[in-house]
Amino acid sequence: MEALTNRSKAVDRRPMTVWEKMYLPVIAKGMGTTLKHFFMKKPTINYPEETRPFSPVFRGLHVLNRDEEGRERCTACGLCAVACPAEAITMEAAERKEGEENLYREEKYAARYEINMLRCIFCGLCEEACPKDAIYLSETFTPSNFTRQSFIYGKPDLLIPDPVKEPELYQKAKGERAKKN
Ligand code: SF4
Ligand code: SF4
Repeated sequence: MEALTNRSKAVDRRPMTVWEKMYLPVIAKGMGTTLKHFFMKKPTINYPEETRPFSPVFRGLHVLNRDEEGRERCTACGLCAVACPAEAITMEAAERKEGEENLYREEKYAARYEINMLRCIFCGLCEEACPKDAIYLSETFTPSNFTRQSFIYGKPDLLIPDPVKEPELYQKAKGERAKKN
């Protein structure tokens, strides 16, 4: 039968010689390969102590943003959910009550906001659709987990720390790329 590729190799079925039965040449060859790699530059890094630079187009964990006064920006308009090709976003809207102006920027806010990370394909369309700069994909990896339920991220998982009360945590969550913008 004609071979599909030229990668096939004929198997040598000759009986081994005495010299070959001592395995010394192949052991020496193996040691040579090990020695060669010993002096080569390591392709691996000591993650998480060392990290590689992010690509400028990297999209990581979603962040629900706040304004400079610490108020939630999201107005539960639903545009991100409509834009999401994976139907990963769900939310429930609520009216802002009197006295809550310091919590929510708009008159309507998301009382519940959830992203199913098992459905998300990190396309960034939710970020592009948002008219309030309320959601963006950060440079943080989505952590691994053991249960499916733990991949449903709610507001406590997504909301960025308050820039007034926790400025350092806020800057860290915002990330280097967002700082430059
Ligand atoms: S990144 Fe894409 S798939 Fe993920 S929630 Fe946003 S729009 Fe949906
Ligand atoms: S994140 Fe943006 S697009 Fe999505 S509901 Fe909130 S304001 Fe609307």
